[in-house]
Amino acid sequence: MGASSTSPISLAAVPSEAERILALQRAAVAEHGAPSLAERILALDALLGLIKKHRQSLVETVSLDFGTRAAAETELGELMPLVAGIKHVRRHLGRWMKPQRRRPGLAFRPASARVAYQPLGVVGVMAPWNYPLFLTLGPLIDALAAGNRVMLKPSELTPRTAALLKNLLAERFEEDQVAVVTGGPDVAAQFSTLDFDHLLFTGSSKVGRQVMAAAAAHLTPVTLELGGKSPVLVCRDYPLKKAARTIAIGKFFNAGQTCVAPDYALVPTDLADAFADAVIEAAAELYPAIAGNADYTSIISGRHYQRLSGMIEEARGGGARVVQHTDPGAAAERKIGPTVLVRAREDSAALREEIFGPILPIVTYDDLDHAIRLINARPKPLALYCFSTDSAKVEGVLQRTRSGGATINGTLLHVTQADLPFGGVGESGMGAYHGREGFLRLSHARATLELGRFNMSDRIAAPYGKLTRAVTRLLLGK
Ligand code: NAD
Repeated sequence: MGASSTSPISLAAVPSEAERILALQRAAVAEHGAPSLAERILALDALLGLIKKHRQSLVETVSLDFGTRAAAETELGELMPLVAGIKHVRRHLGRWMKPQRRRPGLAFRPASARVAYQPLGVVGVMAPWNYPLFLTLGPLIDALAAGNRVMLKPSELTPRTAALLKNLLAERFEEDQVAVVTGGPDVAAQFSTLDFDHLLFTGSSKVGRQVMAAAAAHLTPVTLELGGKSPVLVCRDYPLKKAARTIAIGKFFNAGQTCVAPDYALVPTDLADAFADAVIEAAAELYPAIAGNADYTSIISGRHYQRLSGMIEEARGGGARVVQHTDPGAAAERKIGPTVLVRAREDSAALREEIFGPILPIVTYDDLDHAIRLINARPKPLALYCFSTDSAKVEGVLQRTRSGGATINGTLLHVTQADLPFGGVGESGMGAYHGREGFLRLSHARATLELGRFNMSDRIAAPYGKLTRAVTRLLLGK
C-alpha cells in the first residue's frame, strides 16, 4: 500500500457508494483488527448457509440472466466448488493461520524468528458474467479466510444475479464486512481506482490491463485472473472417440463460455476430419436438441451472439469445413449449436482471438514437437489439456509448455479441486487463489525477529573493531 492508504477520502466531491463503503470498511479494519479463527469460521459458515438456503433462487436467477442456463451447470460448475471450497478452507484454516517458526542466522542468536499471517485489510473483487456466483463468492471465501473485509463488484451482464447477491449477503453480513457494489462499466472503472489493500480481478486481458494501470496509482497489489486460448492436445495414442466425447463435454458446458474451456484442438493432420465428426456426434448425444433444451445454455448477450456467429461465417467464407449440430429454433433462444471448424485460416478470428463460445477450431500437427511448437508460439494459456495414455509423453508436454493449470485426459476439472491453486501465468494472469494459495495470496506474511536477552548484535557497530572483524571473518572467510 502506498502512503495514500491512510489519507482520507476526498471531501471535495460527494463520495460514490463504493467510496462510502470503502471508508466504512477501512474504519472497521482500524477498529477491530484481525478476526480470530472462530470469527472467520463463523463468516464462512454464514456464507455456506446462504448458498444452501438460497440454492433454488440462485439457480433460477442465473438462468434468467443467461436466457437459459442449465440448472445442473450452475450446481456443478458454481455451487458445488463453492461448497467444497468452504469446507476445505474450514478444515485447514487453523493450521494455515498458525505463525511459523523460522531459524535466525547463526550470528544473530540468541533470537527467535517467525512468520505471522495477517489480513491485508480491504479486498476488492471484480467478477465477470460467465460464472457469476463462483467467480464472485470464490474469491470471497479466500478473502474471509484470510481475515479481510471485502467489496464485490459483479458483472453488469448478469444484473439479476448481482442484485440477488447484494440482498442475500446483506442478510448475514454487515456492510463493513462484506458489501456488493452494482453498476455498469463506469462503476467498474471507478471501482478499480479505489485504494484497496488488494484487488482481485477476473475478466479479459484487455480490461485486466486497464485495471492494473488504475490500481498502480495507489500501488494496490492485483491478482489478475484472465483468459486466452487454452489448447487441447489430442495425441495419436489416445482413443479418438473417447477424447472427442470428453472434449465435447468440457467445451459445450455453459455453451463454451468458460475461461478454461478448450479453445482450440491440436489433432494429427490425418485425423482432423474424423475428430471433428466425432466431437459433433458426441455433442448430438449430449444435447439431442438445441432449441427448447434446458440443458444447453444460451449465449449471454446479443453482442456476443453476433461476435460468435461472425466467427463461424468468417471461417466458412475462408474455406473452412464447418461441422455443426444445431436446429432452426436455436437463434430465437440466443443459442449457437456445438460447432467444429476444420482448416480455418490462421488469420481468422477463430484462431486469433479467445473464442468464449461453443466453437472449436482444429489446428493440425505433424508430430509432437510440432504440436508443442504451436502451443509455445502463442501467449501462455490459462489451461492446457493433453489426451494420452503414455505418461512419458504427457510429462514431456508438461515440461516443455507453460499454462496456468492443466488437466490430463479430461478438461476443466483442475479448477474444481479445492486443494489446487487456480490462476494464470503471463498473458493469462498473475497470482493464484483457492485453498491454501488463496489464503496466502490475501494475507500478509509478516516477518518478526525477536532478539534474545543476551544478544550481541548491538556490539557490531561503529567504531568497528575486533568483534566486527571476527564476525565478518567467520561469515565471509579471511
Ligand atoms: P470483461 O473484462 O469484459 O469484464 C470483467 C469485469 O470488468 C466486469 O465486471 C466489468 O464490469 C468490468 N469492466 C468493464 N470495463 C471496465 C473498465 N474499463 N475498467 C474496470 N473494469 C471494467 O470480461 P467478461 O466479458 O465479463 O468475461 C470474459 C473474460 O473473462 C474472458 O476473457 C475470460 O477468459 C475471462 N475469464 C477469466 C476467468 C479466470 O478465472 N481466469 C474466469 C472467467 C472469465
